[in-house]
This record gives sequence, structure tokens and C-alpha cells, in this order.
Amino acid sequence: MTPKEVLAHIRQREVTTVDFRFMDFPGVWQHFSIPADALTEETFEEGIAFDGSSVVGWRAINEADLLVVPQPETALVDPFTAQPTLTMICNIHDPITHQDYTRDPRNIARKAVSYMRSLGVADRFMLAPELEFFIFDDVRYAQNQHEAFYHVDSVEGAWNRGRAEQPNLGYKPVSGLGYFPCPPTDSLVNLRTEMSQRLAECGIKTAAHFHEVATGGQCEIDLDSQDLVESADQVMMARYIIRNVARNSGKTATFMPKPLYGDNGSGMHTHLTLWKNDEPLLAGTGYGTLSDLGLYAIGGLLKHAPALCAFANPTTNSYKRLIEGFEAPTKLSYSRRNRAAIVRIPVSGASPRSRRIEYRCPDSAANPYLLFSAMLMAVVDGIQNKIRPGDPLDKDIYDLKPEELARVPTTPRTLTASLEALRADHDFLLRGDVFTPDIIDTWIWYKISNEIEALRVRPHPYEFALYYDI
Ligand code: GLU
Ligand code: MG
Ligand code: MG
Repeated sequence: MTPKEVLAHIRQREVTTVDFRFMDFPGVWQHFSIPADALTEETFEEGIAFDGSSVVGWRAINEADLLVVPQPETALVDPFTAQPTLTMICNIHDPITHQDYTRDPRNIARKAVSYMRSLGVADRFMLAPELEFFIFDDVRYAQNQHEAFYHVDSVEGAWNRGRAEQPNLGYKPVSGLGYFPCPPTDSLVNLRTEMSQRLAECGIKTAAHFHEVATGGQCEIDLDSQDLVESADQVMMARYIIRNVARNSGKTATFMPKPLYGDNGSGMHTHLTLWKNDEPLLAGTGYGTLSDLGLYAIGGLLKHAPALCAFANPTTNSYKRLIEGFEAPTKLSYSRRNRAAIVRIPVSGASPRSRRIEYRCPDSAANPYLLFSAMLMAVVDGIQNKIRPGDPLDKDIYDLKPEELARVPTTPRTLTASLEALRADHDFLLRGDVFTPDIIDTWIWYKISNEIEALRVRPHPYEFALYYDI
């Protein structure tokens, strides 16, 4: 839509309110609303001032004002508001220079795409994220919290103990016995279908939805492939839709990477493809029917893997997912079939157009603009510098001899380790001024002070299990 079309749409749909959406630094959508008749064609040029000091990781109080500039192509009528409301995703501008604000994650994403094009490497970098999440209702949520904090043995052991020590908590489907049976065992199919319908109404195409393997209502909705900025926009809108559909049904949806101890976590595996003049660049005759360029792209993702985790797995909770035994990746390697490898080449159709690379590290705590940009910068580095990915990891890790296993490096074990890796390895992100040193420093500072240190000084519930009776 153009600005004129947005204004016409507002009249046609009798929209009363316009809602501006923009990304804060850690990755949570922020918004504010104006009456629909206050929106003019000039707003799309000049933007609207807002107080940026209250947005996490942005300006200091003394230089607080920023401009939100709505992007007409993102306009859509919000499916959840009581009053007809049109939402638009916004870029952020500096009010004095009218330039893009350097800490706006969407601006970084746009710069990453321009940088790729300026090199002539490819003209499109497309991403298809798989959104995994848990649905809990209030009672279940409380129970799951309890399990997450106190259970020290297997889920089965916990259930047996529960039977002996707690009131009958009722029927629960057993985790991990097959992919997932049809309803009534899968009790969330209607909710996922409703989510998919709302997504479709908002122009977001989904590839599939299904129950994931974890107990307690783990679901997955896979999004179709889109260009980098559009894909990040869609991830934000999809999280919004999924959480609101759940809420309207008396449930909660959480994208937290590891809400339950002893069961699978939720990832955001992301499939990527590269294109030039509408030709697919990944297909070829090498390993996994990939081209040299495809293998170099993997080389870049592997070379920078620990630093990328600072954006792909940006919370302390993310590292409770990246452990062995729960289908989450831990090995800094690639494979056609081994899901423990951080890069997989999925089985795809015979057409070269369907060849793709699945990067399995990310989880949905990621800010998709920063994550997808960092992935692109690693891929471009791999291609520009012809970085070979080494040998694939084609054995199941349980079949590897201990000495073979020890040779395969693993994902960082903590957020602190990933941030240290980012501090040591970020030159590839600074190329073309895509990320700035200020962005890297602010990210590391924010994560240490607001999350790692904040958690470190708080007694953890599990410490009560370990130490209360000491
Ligand atoms: N939930 C798993 C993860 O944390 C992935 C399961 C799958 O392969 O889809 O990455
Ligand atoms: Mg999955
Ligand atoms: Mg996957």
C-alpha cells in the first residue's frame, strides 16, 4: 500500500485508531496509538515524535526524542482490537538529522540487505522461520512452574512421585511417544488452526502447523520464506497473533526457549536461501546437493557460530535449551540428517529452487532483525572469503567414539560465553557499517547488566531444593 491507499483503506474500513509498532533493542514490540484522523500523508514523510528514553536500550533522558516513521506497506487492520485499528510497523529516525536511528534493529536489517546487494553476492536473502512455543493454561502453568523448578529426575519419575505425593492432577499425554497422535490427544489443533487463519488474514503464509514432541502443549507453526526485513516483520506479527489468540482462549503462549526442565525446549530453526536474478544460488553438486557458494555460506555460519549465539540465543534461559538429548543442536557442525548439528541440509524436492540450509541454533527470544542481519553477515563472510565448512557430522552423536565427539566443538554453554565470543569476533558484523561498535557494546552491556547480573544476585528457586535443608 502507498500512503494514499492507507488513508483510503482507513476510510473504507471505518478505522478509528492508528497504532504504531516498533522494535525495542532486546526484541519486544512497542506501540502507541493516535486517532485515525490525525494521520496524514505528511506523517509518512515526517514521522511522529515520541519519547525514546523509555524504550529499553535507547536514548538517554537528556536526548530522548525520536521519530517513528510508519511504513505503509506494513499496514493491516488489527484482528484483536475492540475498535477498528490499523497497525503499521515503523522505522525510527533521529529528529535532528532525520537520518535512520542507528540503534533501530529494523534499520540494521535494511543495511544488511543493502550491503549484500552492494557486493553483488546475491540480490535476495530469504528466510523461513519455524516458530515453536508452549501453550499453558493457568492451572497447568502453575504446575509446570513447579515441575520446572523442583524436578531433579526424569519427567516419568516426576509423574510417579506426583502420583504418590500430590493430588490426582488428571490425564496428561505422555511425552515423546511418537510424533503426535491425532485429536483428542492433540487437544490444541483448533487453537493452532485459528492462529494460522489469523496469520493468513494478516498476509502471513504458513507452511504447516503441528503439535511438537514435548508434553504440556508444545506447538509449532512454520512460516513461509520471505526477504530478510519482511521475514523479521512477520515473526513479530506472528508472535503477536499467537499470543493474542491463546489469551483470547483463556490460555497463554510462551516463546521462552526452555520453560520445562527435562523436556524439549522451543527453538526457532530458520531455513535460508540465496538468490540472484531469480536463480537459486545454493543448489549444486557438492555435499547435500549444495553449490560451493552454499557450502561457503555454511562455512561462515560455523566460523562465527559462538558469536552468532549472542543474537540467536540471547537469554540466560536459551542455554538451558542448547543441551544434549532434547533435539536441540549443540554441535558446531553441519549434516544432512544429524539434528545435533547446528546446520542441517533438509531433504527438499528435486528442484534446485527448493534447496535450502536450516540453521537450528536460534530460539524465539531472538530479536529477529538483529539475528537475521547477523546470519546474513556471517553467510556473506563465508562466501566472500571462501570459508570451507570442514567435514559433515553424519553419525549420530551417540555412535561417535568419545575421542571423535570431543573433537566436535559445541555451542557456548552460557550467555556470558556467547557475549565473550561476540566481543572477540564481531568485525564481520561491522562491514558496510551494518552493525556499529555502539550496537555491539550496548548489546553486551545490556545483556550483562539487565539479565546476567540481575539473575546472578537473585536466589533461584532450585537453590531452595539444593540448600534449604542444608
Ligand atoms: N524443539 C527442538 C529444538 O529445541 C527442535 C525439534 C525439531 O527438530 O523440530 O530445537
Ligand atoms: Mg520443530
Ligand atoms: Mg526444523
